[in-house]
Amino acid sequence: MKSQDVRAKFLSFFEEKQHSIVPSAPMVLKDDPTLMFVNAGMAPFKEYFLGNAEPKNKRITDTQKCLRVSGKHNDLEEVGYDTYHHTLFEMLGNWSFGDYFKEEAIAWAWELLTDVFGIDKDMLYVSVFEGNKEDGLDMDTEAFDIWKKYISEDRILTGDKKDNFWEMGDQGPCGPCSEIHVDIRSAEEKAKVPGKDLVNQDHPQVVEIWNLVFMQYNRKANGSLESLPNKHIDTGMGFERLCMVLQGVQSNYDTDVFTPIIKEIETITNKTYRKDEKVDVAIRVIADHVRAVAFSIADGQLPSNTGAGYVIRRILRRAVRYGFTFLDKKEPFIYRLVDVLDKKMGKAFPELKAQKQLVENVIKEEEQSFLRTLDQGLVLLNRIVEETKGDTVSGAKAFELYDTYGFPIDLTALILSEKDLKLDEAGFNEELQKQKNRSRAASETSTEDWTILIEDEDEEFIGYDALQVNVKLTRYRKVSSKKDGDMYQLVFNLTPFYPEGGGQVGDKGYLEDAYGDVVYVLNTKKENNVIIHFTETLPKHLNEPFKAVVDEKQRHRTECNHTATHLLHQALRSILGTHVEQKGSAVHSKYLRFDFSHFSKLTEDEIRDVESFVNARINGKIPLVEKRNIPKEEAIAAGAMSLFGEKYGDTVRSIQFGQSIELCGGTHVKNTADIWHFKIVSEGAVAAGIRRIEAITGDAVKDFYSENNRLFIEMKGLLNNVKEPVKALQNLQEENTSLKKQIEALLKDKAKNIKGELKSELTEINGIQFLAKKLDLDAAGLKDVAFELGGEVEHLFLLFATENEGKALLSCYISKDLVASKGLNAGQVVRELGKFIQGGGGGQPFFATAGGKNPEGIAQALAEAKKYVS
Ligand code: ATP
Ligand code: MG
Repeated sequence: MKSQDVRAKFLSFFEEKQHSIVPSAPMVLKDDPTLMFVNAGMAPFKEYFLGNAEPKNKRITDTQKCLRVSGKHNDLEEVGYDTYHHTLFEMLGNWSFGDYFKEEAIAWAWELLTDVFGIDKDMLYVSVFEGNKEDGLDMDTEAFDIWKKYISEDRILTGDKKDNFWEMGDQGPCGPCSEIHVDIRSAEEKAKVPGKDLVNQDHPQVVEIWNLVFMQYNRKANGSLESLPNKHIDTGMGFERLCMVLQGVQSNYDTDVFTPIIKEIETITNKTYRKDEKVDVAIRVIADHVRAVAFSIADGQLPSNTGAGYVIRRILRRAVRYGFTFLDKKEPFIYRLVDVLDKKMGKAFPELKAQKQLVENVIKEEEQSFLRTLDQGLVLLNRIVEETKGDTVSGAKAFELYDTYGFPIDLTALILSEKDLKLDEAGFNEELQKQKNRSRAASETSTEDWTILIEDEDEEFIGYDALQVNVKLTRYRKVSSKKDGDMYQLVFNLTPFYPEGGGQVGDKGYLEDAYGDVVYVLNTKKENNVIIHFTETLPKHLNEPFKAVVDEKQRHRTECNHTATHLLHQALRSILGTHVEQKGSAVHSKYLRFDFSHFSKLTEDEIRDVESFVNARINGKIPLVEKRNIPKEEAIAAGAMSLFGEKYGDTVRSIQFGQSIELCGGTHVKNTADIWHFKIVSEGAVAAGIRRIEAITGDAVKDFYSENNRLFIEMKGLLNNVKEPVKALQNLQEENTSLKKQIEALLKDKAKNIKGELKSELTEINGIQFLAKKLDLDAAGLKDVAFELGGEVEHLFLLFATENEGKALLSCYISKDLVASKGLNAGQVVRELGKFIQGGGGGQPFFATAGGKNPEGIAQALAEAKKYVS
């Protein structure tokens, strides 16, 4: 069965059982501080499990792009070496949010695998949770009894907390689970060792394919468990592993998910898969990593120096490194695989198809820049090798290469071993550990459990309509970190504070109680759908109402910038073309920043056109048309733009100003006239094919022009308030250029004359052309004249001196042939004669200088020079 059909069959099976099919959520998580990437199918549904939001349908099925490269689930180091772990993989899932539970979940899993997909029952093993004393949990006999209806008891294994109790992270929803394992070994192998003994033993042919999680607890910060009000089903099946089983092959890489990519790598690199293990690992690493990187870029996460972007950069660099070392690829080539990937997956994941060109460009540029780093690193490494005495390179040096220049340590080790040198690995690891400790200490945070003041109170956001309202505190907690100190997080029954999101900053403001006590709200953020207000202190009267007030001025300025961002987006698409896609946006009160896909620098005309386009719409006084809670399809049909990498619910909010319609949760002005004026202050590149515009609106534009005007007046003043200051400046510049030229010519003439004079003053002593003289030149002049003379006269010995601002300088030039034949050394000469001018110096045997503070001694130094040649 082809992989496309496997995916389709899974989804339609659950669709028939009243599940809604939903598309994969983007991989990069935006409002979850505990998780960077979606690492399991359940991550995008976390708010449903936590009870912070309600799904439209209690039954959902999907295939979710997952990435396991950081945090609690990190498979990166396995990838390439085994046959069944990937960085990015698809997790097929069926979900019940407070609807069906173990009975149906198990029955359907069994039906799908054995009936629909026709997997032989004798290949399957299942497991149930054995219980755990510490957590006070008994064995999951409920699941055990259900499984007994389908599979013989000797194929039901029990497992401990590690394998059979699923937890999302240190905190949050969790529960016992049943894993389904498949034994794909030959009959011969099976006769030797029973499959039962190989389950969960990291055997490549006895692998877990599906995990059915029975969510029934919540793990609290103090480690204890509490029962969830509703029980849920969360299942996750590895799509690539399922394809391996159904296609009767022994490795995920032999399924049609990977074979086209591997074939393309073979063609590009001229290597053959399955001939040499090292080459094979490299090919698997690259085939895997290109998927992770391509999808992450398509989801809007570009490689960068921090956070999620840095993780992506490291994955790509790992692929480049394997290509560089084992496939001899010294130029970019991974970007060339995006084409096959798109052919294979573009249909199921349209975000890739739509942005193929951008994905290719970004990968190519990343490859190029890392290959340059590798080149520079090789030069530095060679220098380290030359300086190394003995047979071991110090860990600290290797660490510096790794840390400062990004040069990979395994490559260092490999190159050293080729040169018969060893790497002090213990020393390296020690440095690495030290660095890790430093950054851990810096980012350490501790989060207390919520203190609940009012149970079961849903929070409501009213900030689109009001900036002030009376609120009740429903819960709070303290979060302590090295970086921010102690902060309190407060949640209310309702709030006018806009939480950071969609690029727009969170609101600031204050809370005031009936006694006049005020607490400032420093920021507002959303975490898993809960709006959290950050304060430095806890309000005194927790159980009494507060007046919550948003800083109106800041909010208004931010709104001007947000609406202007929409108009800018519209302007770019209309002036540059519809290939322009939003790639990032930051809406502050002081300015706005907008990143978008476009392949060349904007010309001055284009920038002016964009400004005029936006300003025309500001002057057009276009009113806001806002629609809340409309079906997504309806908004899209009306022409609303949606963004890749953004997670939208079933109902959306659309924001329209004339022809500009966007899905947006941010706050906006009521009429474009409020913006007053729009001005672009910078345009530049952020990555291959991504440009960045920074712009300002409203009062910020007034400040910008008045500051410019002040500068202009000041400059005009310096130009004696002439009528035409630009012309006056041009004249000054021209005059300056011509004066510079004249000076240069004069200096050249002077040096020529001096050279001629000096040549006639040379005296021959013992076959050496000798001169010791004080000249009226600076240090550079002395050197120039010496070298000019040296170019014309052989067997030369010169000692020049000069005096400047009470300091003395000696400079000695000796022809190289004299250095060799007579053992003369300019460095030694200036060191010895330097004592007369009370100074010191040095240099090379053929040229050296000394500086000193006693110009009186120059005459004596010059007089002594003769002794070196006589
Ligand atoms: P394993 O022990 O094999 O690493 P897991 O216990 O980490 O698996 P779960 O977290 O239960 O797996 O994930 C559910 C399913 O997702 C697994 O049954 C497996 O089929 C698949 N899966 C997990 N990790 C990966 C991976 N790195 N690459 C491909 N598929 C994976
Ligand atoms: Mg795992």
